[in-house]
Amino acid sequence: MSIEENKIFLPKTQIPKNWYNVLPDLPEPLGPYLGPDRQPVKVSDLAAIFPKDLIEQEVSSQAIHPIPEPVLEALSIWRPTPLVRARRLEKALGVKSRIYYKDESVSPSGSHKSNTAMAQAYYNQIAGITRLTTETGAGQWGTALAIAAKHFGLDVRVFMVKVSLTQKPYRKVIMNLMGAEVFPSPSELTKAGREALAKDPNTLGTLGLAISEAVEEAVSRPDTNYVLGSVLNHVILHQTVIGQEVQQQLALAGEKPDYLIACHGGGSNFGGLVTPYVPMLKSGEKLVAIAAEPASCPTLTAGKFTYDAGDTAGFTPLMPMYSLGTDFQPPAIHAGGLRYHGASPIVSSLLKSGLIQAQAVSAEDVFKYAKLLAYSEYVIPAPESAHALAVTCLKALELEKEGQSGCLVFTLSGHGLLDLSAYDQPI
Ligand SMILES: *Cc1c(COP(=O)(O)O)cnc(C)c1O
Repeated sequence: MSIEENKIFLPKTQIPKNWYNVLPDLPEPLGPYLGPDRQPVKVSDLAAIFPKDLIEQEVSSQAIHPIPEPVLEALSIWRPTPLVRARRLEKALGVKSRIYYKDESVSPSGSHKSNTAMAQAYYNQIAGITRLTTETGAGQWGTALAIAAKHFGLDVRVFMVKVSLTQKPYRKVIMNLMGAEVFPSPSELTKAGREALAKDPNTLGTLGLAISEAVEEAVSRPDTNYVLGSVLNHVILHQTVIGQEVQQQLALAGEKPDYLIACHGGGSNFGGLVTPYVPMLKSGEKLVAIAAEPASCPTLTAGKFTYDAGDTAGFTPLMPMYSLGTDFQPPAIHAGGLRYHGASPIVSSLLKSGLIQAQAVSAEDVFKYAKLLAYSEYVIPAPESAHALAVTCLKALELEKEGQSGCLVFTLSGHGLLDLSAYDQPI
């Protein structure tokens, strides 16, 4: 019989009290966001859709941002999250490497998105905003925001990518239960939506188009702001509680990480895990950070580093990032959260400067290792998280083949219990 510790918990008192801002630590400063005239966007231009505190965080050069008390209290509902040693997965793979996953699936929404949803709802509430609009792909972000809006007393309208709404009807039920309105995108409610429907009534919708709809509505109403669940600098800032907790937990386990791996859709769970390690990555210590993405939507590995818009209609500023182009129509892969043409400017900058790596994985490998995690650890990962898992397993096997081993940490960004259709239709 073998009974061994597999979960590393932190006491509530160890929740990080600050967010870590990587902007001043980037090897090169980020290029400014540009307007349609290709001139830098003024902070006042952003004020139509964002509260002042979030705009300040977006461009901040301050290394540390204290987490406001009401946000800490909200985070403490589920944080700190456990770091889990996946011993049975190691055994199933037959590797000597130590594999850990940071379990962000224990949040109220079942994913890491609640970390920023709570913060953004709070800053909008104290700015006097009463209504939020947003887009959602697979529905995790909409769910996280609906719960956060409930917590801070705000109304929400969610534009959900049509194909995801069909594939994942249950997240709409949760959002509605929390009091949010949910519409399939493209919708008839906005000009961007009506134009897309006129062009192709059968369109599956994209995240870029849903963003256009949500932004269009927020710009047109003073009581309404827009919130984004990924990509932007302030979102990554809010997610740094993940990496800061991992640092404490690995120290408790007497480990130093050799590999940090997270999936990449817009960059927030990757940025949350990895940016607190940027000082270490810059110091030249032995550490490899890998962003895992789908081979069918290979933004970081096949996209171009360029100035591009975050949405289809071009409402958002142009941002310096890796992009497949705003017209890129990703196939209807199950990992809806990874169907995005662009990437976070922070992650793009880290990749361009060579501090991190990116790796694309096939859908076959993603589901192969998702099933292995289910069989070995009895955990069903979100299809997005399964990309990080697959890259982790492939790396552990590669090390084994070379007669080596290491400490690999990946983010389980969410659970797959509302994505079961993906497991019911094997590739
Ligand atoms: C949204 C989402 C992602 C992708 O978004 P990032 O901003 O790249 O983290 C990954 N995993 C889950 C579970 C998600 O909900």
